[in-house]
Amino acid sequence: MTNLSKFYQKTWMQRLQALMDQQLISVEQRQLLEKSATDPAVGDQQIENYLTHYGLPEGLAFHYLIDQRRYLVPMVTEEPSVIAASSHGAAIVEKSGGFYTKVTDHLLWGQIVFEQVANAEKLKSLLEQQQEKLLQIANQAHPSLQQRGGGARYLRVRILASDLVSLDLAIDTQQAMGANMVNSMLEAVADYLREQVSTPVLLSVLSNLADQALATAVCRIPVELLARPQITGQQVAQKMAAASRLAQLDPYRAATHNKGIMNGVDAVAIAMGNDWRAIESAAHAFAVKKGNYRGLSQWQLKSDESVLEGTLTLPLPVGFVGGSTKIVPLVQLNHHLTAIKSVGELEKVMVSVGLAQNLAALQALVSEGIQQGHMRLQLRATVLAAGAQPAEVATIVTKMQQLQRTDLATAQNLLAKEHEGEH
Ligand code: NDP
Repeated sequence: MTNLSKFYQKTWMQRLQALMDQQLISVEQRQLLEKSATDPAVGDQQIENYLTHYGLPEGLAFHYLIDQRRYLVPMVTEEPSVIAASSHGAAIVEKSGGFYTKVTDHLLWGQIVFEQVANAEKLKSLLEQQQEKLLQIANQAHPSLQQRGGGARYLRVRILASDLVSLDLAIDTQQAMGANMVNSMLEAVADYLREQVSTPVLLSVLSNLADQALATAVCRIPVELLARPQITGQQVAQKMAAASRLAQLDPYRAATHNKGIMNGVDAVAIAMGNDWRAIESAAHAFAVKKGNYRGLSQWQLKSDESVLEGTLTLPLPVGFVGGSTKIVPLVQLNHHLTAIKSVGELEKVMVSVGLAQNLAALQALVSEGIQQGHMRLQLRATVLAAGAQPAEVATIVTKMQQLQRTDLATAQNLLAKEHEGEH
């Protein structure tokens, strides 16, 4: 009997067969893996032990007016209501004149960390004195980056403990996210320093705390645009400002506040072929930079309480080229749909999406509540999970709303009754 050892050395077909031989999958499950494998030759090159392509739904968000330009925003997410909320938030901002954004340089930090340091101050000044040489070695390791106007810009040395020192290189990665480029540049510098300095190098790798690649979006909303059926716009705005303050004070609330922001940011990151884990880790590390974990956005009443101003700053270590951007055909299509032409423009769209998402979530939370506003969308997922065919979903959702039930068991019961009725 075939076993699963050396799985990585098998061809794709042999892997599926091995799973069958081990009775780990049925014939139908093998067919599902084969059907979902949209491009096995590419998938096999992209990752290890490739089985299939795992699809996620992609949709379009509308109403994005950013720095006076209109954007269609492709979003990839499995979560119901994210795209509806995104378009809803963006529509309110559109009526208020749109988002205004700014981005900083696109620098990534790379760390070379020394351990067993005998004299941290001495090592610090030795490294600082070598700045020009170290930057030169870094740039020689990836000369094309410098030719494009990027490359290692400057360094700083941080004493983390009496025996632990971090040499940080700020590297302009131009249109790429830059993780691989930075890592190879760091390794070249680390190799040089191993010869020059007797202190051992513990590790060298990029830092995901990308606080030199920041994007900020601002919107100013006349409060009357925030009105909901049972509550005035003024009241919604006051409560949104209070909820924003709460997210600055309470990490339990801040975590959920930020999750809502990242619902949108991640969905765009995936649609654009970006590493959403890098973006997530950057965002959460940045949220705690002042000591306490805080909400990433802030909402304040301005102009005699007639305007609610929202601001969001995010570290966005993203790429317009590199990584999987050229490999995944849908990423090229999504670049085309948004008509984004540069990494800076991608950052502007992503930070605006984060702010729109946050606006929609806070507005719902302080008025009708998040569940009621999105119940029909959430219910669709529950009804599908109960085993409904897509054509049956609307009927069962309506019945559940009439019963004011949201649970899976009710969906299953209603579905069973529906099927009984057919016989
Ligand atoms: P790549 O390794 O793909 O490098 C970028 C590529 O883009 C290079 O080949 C470069 O060409 C090319 N390029 C073309 N035009 C430009 C331009 N105008 N500006 C910059 N580059 C250009 O990707 P990255 O280095 O960006 O690394 C991103 C990947 O690294 C992601 O897939 C991520 O998942 C992964 N990663 C993430 C880590 C983390 O976050 N901790 C760790 C390790 C990997 P040329 O070679 O000619 O310069």
